[in-house]
Amino acid sequence: MSGGKIAIIGAGAAGVFAAARLRRTSPDLEIVLLEAGPRPLAKVAVTGGGRCNLSNTFHGLRSLAEAYPRGARWMERAFRRFGPEETRTWFEEAGVRLLVQEDECIFPASQDAMQIVRTLLREAQGSSWRTGCRVTRLEPVDGGWQVEGEHFDAVLVTTGGLSRPDGLLGGLDLEIVPPVPSLFTFRIDDPVTAMSGTVVRAGVALAGTKFRAEGPLLITDWGMSGPAILKLSSYAARHLAERQYKAELLVRWLPETDEIIRARVREMASVSPQRQVSSTHPKEIPSRLWACLAGRSGIPEGRRWAEVGALGLNRLAATLAADPYPIAGKSRFREEFVTCGGVSLAEIDPATQQARKHPGLFFAGEVLDIDAITGGFNLQAAWTTGWIAAEGIRKTLVP
Ligand SMILES: Cc1cc2nc3c(=O)[nH]c(=O)nc-3n(C[C@H](O)[C@H](O)[C@H](O)COP(=O)(O)OP(=O)(O)OC[C@H]3O[C@@H](n4cnc5c(N)ncnc54)[C@H](O)[C@@H]3O)c2cc1C
Repeated sequence: MSGGKIAIIGAGAAGVFAAARLRRTSPDLEIVLLEAGPRPLAKVAVTGGGRCNLSNTFHGLRSLAEAYPRGARWMERAFRRFGPEETRTWFEEAGVRLLVQEDECIFPASQDAMQIVRTLLREAQGSSWRTGCRVTRLEPVDGGWQVEGEHFDAVLVTTGGLSRPDGLLGGLDLEIVPPVPSLFTFRIDDPVTAMSGTVVRAGVALAGTKFRAEGPLLITDWGMSGPAILKLSSYAARHLAERQYKAELLVRWLPETDEIIRARVREMASVSPQRQVSSTHPKEIPSRLWACLAGRSGIPEGRRWAEVGALGLNRLAATLAADPYPIAGKSRFREEFVTCGGVSLAEIDPATQQARKHPGLFFAGEVLDIDAITGGFNLQAAWTTGWIAAEGIRKTLVP
């Protein structure tokens, strides 16, 4: 066999995408995918609630750090080689019509994640698959690697997130940033949960920190969820893990400065002094939630604006600007989550995704210390790093 033999450990998004790229560029390489589960791409099949949010236009972002709390600089560099544009072209050329939603998320027009699974499997055809094969050890031998008793010229590790990859990588002296979960919702024991189902555009922050986010906030019967909370959970993933998910959440119910909020409250009071506070609400806040927030500010039901007084108006403005809720723990967001942490980027050469200390050992996907908020950014990282690793392997093995 000319070219060499490669093991890809983990047949998920990054591993299969890398296999597809290698099949295209270097058909002489022998590619073996070793997958612990019963079938490849099991997670891709359930992404985006079964619709697969495979990328994003990135137009709605101020900076890449907003999408990638870990790995933004890495991704910025990587996108110059294989970014969202190239990803769209890749899928379209592979016969997948894409749909860009208003929120900039990209899905297959079929709204069917299985189309993505089938496309990736077809593009990686010619590789060998070993399912039900959990690799437990990697050993460098004779200028190559020993994996499950077989010799390979190069190994690509794409085992995804969550569990510490130390077992597999034990003895290789690679720095692993301890993995903790990201993308979760907050459990909050507070009567505000009676407003379950309410969605408002809000700002959220963790008291005493710089962690903040904004976007739609969903009140649930167990606490708070929605894009604003998921983003905050991602930005503060490690901070919250270190504090056993106990912290104070501050909600800014109106997207304005403290001063403007105070002015709006005074104006409401002066325009309709004889109306009940609960019956005059800002357009951004639904009436039931408004009544609840007035109650949280110490304004009893039925009170008229004229009866509230300066102190009461200030308390209401303070609630609207920074309403505190104790976070009691974390809950799952549907079933979606990603891992913050993994193989430290300091260990990896960004040009090839090869371990600096170990020639022939490559990494891609969530096993690396790169993760993102929801919106297709995590799969984008898998495609991009998988593609670069495939190029790195090709350059190393094909003269
Ligand atoms: C329910 C859910 C929905 C999601 N939806 C989206 C979405 O819509 N858009 C988005 O961008 N992101 C989404 N994500 C995140 C996204 O799926 C991941 O970031 C992405 O799949 C990571 O790709 P990966 O190839 O690195 O890892 P994975 O896709 O997780 O693949 C890793 C593979 O390695 C295998 N493996 C692990 N250890 C071993 C071992 N020792 N030996 C052999 N095999 C091993 C695993 O079985 C797995 O198949 C979602 C995540 C979840 C959980």
